[in-house]
Amino acid sequence: MKRVIIIGGGPAGMQTALCLVRRGIEPVIVECENELGGKLRNWHVLFPTFTPASDVLTELRRKVRENRIGVHLSTSVETFTDRQATLSDGRVLTCDAVVVATGFTLFDARIKEEYGYGIYDKVITSADLERLFNEGRVVQAAGEHPRRIAFLHCVGSRDEKVCQQHCSRVCCVTGVKQAIEMRRLFPEADVFNFYMDIRMFGPGYEELYREAQQRYGIHFVRGRISEAAPTHDNRLQIKAEDTLTGRPLRMSVDLLVLLVGMRANDQNAAWAADNGLNQAPSGFLQPKDLFLGNVRSGVEGIFYAGTVTAPKTIGETVNEATAAADAVADYLTTKA
Ligand code: SF4
Repeated sequence: MKRVIIIGGGPAGMQTALCLVRRGIEPVIVECENELGGKLRNWHVLFPTFTPASDVLTELRRKVRENRIGVHLSTSVETFTDRQATLSDGRVLTCDAVVVATGFTLFDARIKEEYGYGIYDKVITSADLERLFNEGRVVQAAGEHPRRIAFLHCVGSRDEKVCQQHCSRVCCVTGVKQAIEMRRLFPEADVFNFYMDIRMFGPGYEELYREAQQRYGIHFVRGRISEAAPTHDNRLQIKAEDTLTGRPLRMSVDLLVLLVGMRANDQNAAWAADNGLNQAPSGFLQPKDLFLGNVRSGVEGIFYAGTVTAPKTIGETVNEATAAADAVADYLTTKA
């Protein structure tokens, strides 16, 4: 039986494995964390339907278990070729192909010092907010009766100063979804989203954006926050400019949520150099071509699935993983 090593056990890795099993190929997942699921493990509900992330995660994990797919947890891949992978524990696994499904890294908001993340308690990231929802601790962060909550879009995306010029795609709709969740939890609070552009590309996203404004009364301000500073009464003062009216703006808020972007894994550079893979200027791995080969690396026997090549939604990631498994199966058939 042909064996394929899948590097990464998030939604892309799990879905690739499930599709390979159906095609009579043995997948082996190598995951550096101690459980499967990737960043989906920390997410609360998914846009635009508010579907619990755990529904998707539980289903994928259940199928992986039922199909008895080989999984190495708490193990990373040190080096690989299309024929073998060397693991962090020294073992060498042989294979017939490799699928890289290592995902992305969340932008470290501390780099944008002007917002005070990691310094002020009232500044959190969108990923923190998901975790707080899961832990039932949002009130602890925002206070019992917050008067104002602000979201800031494009933190660590579309920003030359931090070498992240790409758009992370999912943070606009995440900001709209989280703003609605906050209004539902704190109906008395005014919620503001500070944005550069609103990018609502997916099905149901534009409708969600309208609902946020019309039903939930969420304010959308085109402008960037330039800094955040604590006030004497344990709130935050933010300074911004409304770029539609050209007016400077100051307001006190009880919570500032930074919508952090998806950046490429640092590891991509070494893997690209070792294996002759292409890296896009954004740092993400670059597929063979964006139209007819977006799960192929251009190097024989090495394939991609999910956000290792670019920011994507969970739905897009799962679809792409299915396509990656198809491409691997075709490759192995041709090779046989
Ligand atoms: S999706 Fe929106 S918030 Fe995210 S980087 Fe693009 S424009 Fe900015």
